[in-house]
Amino acid sequence: MKTLILDPIDSEALEYAIERLDIVDWRNVESKDYPIAEAVIVRTFKMTKEIMDQMPNLKIIAKHGVGVDNIDLDYAKSKGIIVTNTPQANMNSVAEFVIALALNCARKVTMAHNMVKEGIEKNSPFELAGFELQNKTVGLIGLGRIGTLVGTKLKAAFNTKVLVYDPYASESICEKEGFVKCEHLDQVLKESEIVSVSVPLTKDTENLISVRELSLMKENAVLINTSRGKVINEKDLYDALQQNKLFGAAIDAFAEEPVSKEHPLLTCNNFIGTPHNGANTRDALIRMGTEAVDEIVRLMSNEESLNRVVMS
Ligand code: NAD
Repeated sequence: MKTLILDPIDSEALEYAIERLDIVDWRNVESKDYPIAEAVIVRTFKMTKEIMDQMPNLKIIAKHGVGVDNIDLDYAKSKGIIVTNTPQANMNSVAEFVIALALNCARKVTMAHNMVKEGIEKNSPFELAGFELQNKTVGLIGLGRIGTLVGTKLKAAFNTKVLVYDPYASESICEKEGFVKCEHLDQVLKESEIVSVSVPLTKDTENLISVRELSLMKENAVLINTSRGKVINEKDLYDALQQNKLFGAAIDAFAEEPVSKEHPLLTCNNFIGTPHNGANTRDALIRMGTEAVDEIVRLMSNEESLNRVVMS
C-alpha cells in the first residue's frame, strides 16, 4: 500500500515499514506525492481538511502515538478514512516520565544542577531542600492507561496513597488497584502532594486547572502535566509559581508547541518544562512505529484494526 510517512520515525520501525509497505519517508516526501497516498503515518503532522483533499486515495491515517488532535477526525470520517492510533505503545514511557518529573520537582534536581553550573559556595543550600515521595498522597486526574500506571508504580515504589478524579473511571478499577475514587476534583487537589494530569484535551478539560483549582492545592504540592498544554491555564500557573503557592510544577505539553524559550513559565525557578518528551524513549518509539505499520498491514489484509479512533 502506498504509504507516506510524514514525520520522522525510529530507524528500526522504518526498516519494519520498508519490509511491509511501499513507502515514501519524511525526508523525500513532497506534496506531489499526496495524490497517490493510500495510507499515511503521522506523529504531529496536521491532517487538515485541506491536506486530506489533496489525498483522494487515502484510506487510513495511522497515528504514531495517542493524541489525535492533529487530525480532523470529523472530516476523515466524512471521507470514509480510517484513523488508528497506538495507545498502548507509549503509556509506560509516559508513566515513567511522570515519576521522573515528580521526583525532579520534589528534589529540585534541575534547580540544583543549574545552581552547580552557576557556581555554589556551600553544599546542600537551604533553598534546595526537597521532600520525599514515601507515604505521600498522589492525586491522579484521569485514570486511563497512563494515570493507572502512574498510580500503581508510585504506590508500589513509595507506598503512596492514591486519590483519583475521573468521572468515567469505574469504582472496581480503583478498588482493584487500592486507589480512592473521589467525587470531586477539589478533594484531589486539596489533599495531594503530587497531582498528575493525564486527561485528553476536550471542551470539558480545557483550562481544567485554572486559578481556582491552583488555589486549592497545598503549598508543598507539585503539579505535573504530561497530557495537553491547554488543560492547564499557563498564566494562572505562572502566577501561582511566582507567588510560591505551589512547591513546583512540571509540564511536558504546552498550549503552543514547540514552546518558545521566551515562555514566562521558564523564568520560574520552581518550574520544569520539557518539549513533549514523555513518550520519547527508544522502546516506545519502536513500538509506536511498528504498531502504526501493523494497522496499515491489517487494512491490506482486510483484518479489523486493533485501535480504531474513527470508523467510517
Ligand atoms: P486514556 O484515554 O487511556 O485516559 C484518559 C482518561 O481521562 C480516561 O480515563 C478518561 O475517563 C479521563 N477523563 C476524560 N475527561 C476527564 C475529565 N473531565 N476529568 C477527569 N478525567 C477525565 O489516555 P492516556 O493514554 O492515559 O493518555 C492521556 C493523555 O496523555 C492523552 O490524551 C494525551 O493527550 C496525553 N499523552 C501525552 C504524551 C506525551 O508525550 N506527553 C504521550 C501520550 C499521551
